[in-house]
Amino acid sequence: MHQPDDSIYKRQLRRGFDGLRFEEPLEWDFRRSFLASRLPEVRAALALGLLLVAVLSLLDWQLLPQAFWHQSLLVRIVCMLPLMGLALIATYVGSLAKILPAILMGCVFGVGLATLGIGILAVQSNLDMPFAWFVVVTVYAYLLLGFRLYQALLVLLPLCFGYLTLTAFGDLTAFAYEAVFIGFANVVGAMGCYRLEHSARTIFLETQIMNLLVGSDALTGIPNRRLFNTHLQSVWRQAQRESRGLAIALIDVDYFKQFNDRYGHQAGDTCLRRIAHTLMQTARRPLDLTARFGGEEFVMLLFDPEADHVEALAARVRDQITLLDIPHETSAVSSRVTVSIGIAVAGPTCHRSAEGILQVADEALYEAKEAGRDQFVIKEADENSGETGIFRGPWTQSEGG
Ligand code: GH3
Ligand code: MG
Ligand code: MG
Repeated sequence: MHQPDDSIYKRQLRRGFDGLRFEEPLEWDFRRSFLASRLPEVRAALALGLLLVAVLSLLDWQLLPQAFWHQSLLVRIVCMLPLMGLALIATYVGSLAKILPAILMGCVFGVGLATLGIGILAVQSNLDMPFAWFVVVTVYAYLLLGFRLYQALLVLLPLCFGYLTLTAFGDLTAFAYEAVFIGFANVVGAMGCYRLEHSARTIFLETQIMNLLVGSDALTGIPNRRLFNTHLQSVWRQAQRESRGLAIALIDVDYFKQFNDRYGHQAGDTCLRRIAHTLMQTARRPLDLTARFGGEEFVMLLFDPEADHVEALAARVRDQITLLDIPHETSAVSSRVTVSIGIAVAGPTCHRSAEGILQVADEALYEAKEAGRDQFVIKEADENSGETGIFRGPWTQSEGG
């Protein structure tokens, strides 16, 4: 059983991540939370960028020849403002979260190219333009737009290369200085970006470890496996003291790997949250507990359930999940998301340990899967009882499960 001491978070922390990469599935979780946690500063940076463009346009208008500022203004209005404005709007559109990094990278790259274009126009007009803009783009990409180091490098290196190639055609003395400044700005920026990402990764792992310790699951917000284990031990002791029984239900989403493959990991996460929420509504008596057991598996503990309560609850869980009506085209058992449920029922005289009862629930779940999924199996956990029941709802049969 997974204890926090051997959680993937702790192992990753021990092993280190100097190459700025976690093992899967941590890496994916980190990437999602990294940009999400930096959204406010990304928005502020984009708003400031828009302001900077406005100020530069005013300066050009006041200080530079008309022929030039007409052209530079056109580039800013046609290219920079829409790119930055759209990127800013995209940060508010939840459904774009997955492609937001690509949108932001596209924005920086486009704005970088546009500034490069303005530089070329300036050279053609024999203007001695300050090229500090490139340093601004560099700072933005490394530090302000929530990029990971590799994303920042991916955007900046081609821009730097293009910029230096262009300058090399001009004054070679200026080229030497600019190459040194740009090189330096990139080294400093990359160092800052590395530090920032490294700290963010450390904080991410430490937060997850803390979540494990305090007992709540980071994705769904419901109790986690650790809390469940602690609760199970104490409830089982109480049950034996008071000569009562208990039941443990393991609930596993059917064909969830295919669900992720078909609809994406993010939709998978949303699906898990909805299922968690539904399960939480189902078992609500004081000593009952619903938890995320790990991955796409949930667990329910029912204290001293009445005989028909267990079966009714299993049927209700299955009903409620089906009623969520989450499409699952690639499931072999239904067109919606379904679950299989394995339940162990332990009477007051059961001599198994709490782990033993959990083991029986696991066997019951296995049988429900083997029997075709989208159904529940209830097993007696008492040592000498071989009783097993498989229960299928009418819709399972009609959908040919
Ligand atoms: P079965 O019907 O036999 O249970 O098939 P399955 O595909 O559900 O089972 P399997 O154990 O092969 O796959 C479980 C999948 O659950 C694989 C993994 O990617 C996915 N998964 C586990 N944790 C998470 C999570 O936090 N988020 C998402 N989106 N997917 C997860
Ligand atoms: Mg599954
Ligand atoms: Mg599973």
